[in-house]
Amino acid sequence: MDHLHNGTQNIHALIVDDDDVDRERLVRMLRRGPREITVEQAGSQAEALEKIRDPEAHFDIVFLDFGLADGDGRDLLPAIRGEIDPDCPIIAVTGNADEQIAADSIKSGMTEYLTKRSLSPERVAASVEEGMAWRQYRHDLRRQEEELTHRSLHDPLTDLPNRTLFSDRLGQACARARRSGDPFAVVMVDLDRFKEINDNFGHASGDAVLVTIGRRLREHLREVDTTARLGGDEFAILLQNIDGEESAMAVATKLTELIEQPIVHGGRMLHVGASIGIALCPLLGFSPDGLLSAADEAMYEAKRGVDKAVLARGEDRPASRSLDQGGMLHDIERAIAARAFEWHWQPKVDMRDGQVLGFEALVRWTHPEDGPIPADVLIETVEQSHLLEAFTYLSLDVVLGEFAALQHLLGDAAICINVSARMLERPGFVSHVVETTARHKVDPARVMLELTETALIANPAQARRVIEQLHDHKISLAIDDFGAGFTSFGYLREFAVSEIKIDRSFISRFTESRFDQSLVHSLVVLCESLGIPLVAEGVENPETQAMLVAMGCTCGQGYGICRPMPYENVRGWLEMWNTERNGTRLRA
Ligand code: C2E
Ligand code: CA
Ligand code: CA
Repeated sequence: MDHLHNGTQNIHALIVDDDDVDRERLVRMLRRGPREITVEQAGSQAEALEKIRDPEAHFDIVFLDFGLADGDGRDLLPAIRGEIDPDCPIIAVTGNADEQIAADSIKSGMTEYLTKRSLSPERVAASVEEGMAWRQYRHDLRRQEEELTHRSLHDPLTDLPNRTLFSDRLGQACARARRSGDPFAVVMVDLDRFKEINDNFGHASGDAVLVTIGRRLREHLREVDTTARLGGDEFAILLQNIDGEESAMAVATKLTELIEQPIVHGGRMLHVGASIGIALCPLLGFSPDGLLSAADEAMYEAKRGVDKAVLARGEDRPASRSLDQGGMLHDIERAIAARAFEWHWQPKVDMRDGQVLGFEALVRWTHPEDGPIPADVLIETVEQSHLLEAFTYLSLDVVLGEFAALQHLLGDAAICINVSARMLERPGFVSHVVETTARHKVDPARVMLELTETALIANPAQARRVIEQLHDHKISLAIDDFGAGFTSFGYLREFAVSEIKIDRSFISRFTESRFDQSLVHSLVVLCESLGIPLVAEGVENPETQAMLVAMGCTCGQGYGICRPMPYENVRGWLEMWNTERNGTRLRA
C-alpha cells in the first residue's frame, strides 16, 4: 500500500465537535487523505475528557471545535497536552473565519487553524501533515535539549557529572541542610601517581584509569550520592546523610580501597592511590564554596602528610584568608576611592553587514606595583569581598557616564555592563541601576546588563524577580558565558532574557571541533524557537565568522572583529568602521 512506501504510518485522530454533521464531514475528508487513519469522535467536553484520559487510548492528532455545548473547546488544551503528549498537534476547527480567533488559537497553543466553511480533503490532509511535521520538530527539539543539557553537565570521558552539575547539587544540599538539618559530606579525591601513568604509558592509559575509577566510584556509591569529575585527576563526591566523623572516615577508607585496586590496561597493571579530603555539613557551615575549599584544603593536607584521608577541622574554617594575598583588597579599596579603574569597550556587531549593535565594557586595572591585573582575577577577588557593591556601583557610574557622552553618535547601539551574580541579592540593586541610568540621562532601553548563567541557576526565584524588575524599567539582560554552566533550558523560557552570549570556549575551537559546531547549531535552533538573539563571543578569525553566519548566528564579538579599546578611542574607531562599512557597501 501507498503509506508503506512513502513512510507515512497509520495515525489515530480525535475529533471533538458537538455537531454530528460537521464531525461526519471531517471524518470523511480525513479518510480520503493519503494516510490510513483511525478516528475517534467526541461530541462534548465531557466525552472528550473521558477519551483523552482513557489509558488505553492513544492519539496522534486532535481536531478541536471551540464552541461545544458544554463549554469552550480550548479548556481541553491542558488535558490534551498533559494526558496525550505535550507535543500533540491540535488543529482548531471553527465555524467562523476570523483572524483574531485564528491568532488567539495559535497563541493558546493550537498548531493549525481550519474554518469549517473552507474545509476540503486537501486542506485537511495538509493540516495532518503539518501537525505530524510539527510534532516531529518538537520531539527533535526536546531530544536536542536533553542531549545538550546532558552534555553540558557531564564529563565526556567518564560521563560523570561535571563541576557545574556538582556545584548545583552541592548548592541544593546546602539549602536542604539549612532548612531541615540533613547532614552531608563533601569529599575531594585527588589521584596519586596519575601523572606518572600519563607520562610513562600515554594518555590512553591515563584515560582508562579515569574511566575505571569513575565507574568504581559510581557503582559503589548510592543513587542519592553525586560523584563528579572536576577535571584532571580530581573527583568530588557528595555523600548524603553522613552524620559524623566516623561514618565519613569509614567511607573514605572504602573509597581508598576501591581506588587502589589495580587497573589492567594494554597488558599492564596500573596502580594509583588517592588523597582524600572531607568536609562535613553542617559542622563547617552551609556555604557551598566554604565546604568545597575546606575539603580541598584537607585533601592537600592528605597529599602532603601520611594519612590518606583528612577530615577538615571546624576551627580552621576557611575565611577570606587565602584571598587577600599581599593586601590586594586594600589596594582595590583605595582604587575604588580614587576611581582608578578604566573600562575598555569592545564592539558587538552584526557580522553580515558590520552594523554596531552594542559595546561591552570591560574593566582594566593597573596595580601601582604589580602592573596590569587580569580582569577575571580582579573580579574574583572583588566578588568575594565586601567591596563588591562599591565596585559595581562605580562601574555603573563610570560606564554610563561615558556612554552618555557618546550615545548621540552610536545609533541604537547598547552599552553592556557585566554584573556579578551576587549583586542580585542586594536589596537596592535595581533601583540603583535605574537611578544611575536616569542621572546620566541614558535611555534605559539601551542599557544591557550581562549576568553569567550560573547566577540564574544559583537562585532562580530571586534572579527572576530582579530580571523582571529590570525589565519593567526597560533595562535588558544578557546571559553571559552560556553553555559553560547551564542546568536547564527551561530557565530560559521563564526569564525575560534579551540576549544569550555563547561562551568563548565553544567559539574558539569552533572551526575544528564538530562537537562545538553541533552545540552552536543546536543553540541557534533553540534560540530561534525562543525568539532570543544569540551572540558569539571570542570570534577570532574570518573563518569562524563565516561559519557562524552560515549557521545562522549573525551577531558576534571578538578579537577578530575588534579588540577591547580605551574609551578615548571609541569615537575614532567608529568613524573608521563606518567609513569602511559604507565603502564596502558602495562597492558591493
Ligand atoms: P566576559 O564577560 O566573558 O568578557 C569577555 C572577555 O573575553 C574579556 O576578557 C575580553 O577581553 C575577552 N575577549 C573578547 N574577545 C576575545 C577573543 O576574540 N578571544 C579571546 N581569547 N578573548 C576575547 P577580560 O576583559 O579579561 O574580562 C574577563 C572577565 O572579567 C569578563 O568575562 C567578565 O566576566 C569579567 N569582567 C570584566 N569587566 C568586568 C566588570 O566591569 N564587572 C564585572 N562584574 N565583571 C567584569
Ligand atoms: Ca560579559
Ligand atoms: Ca562571556
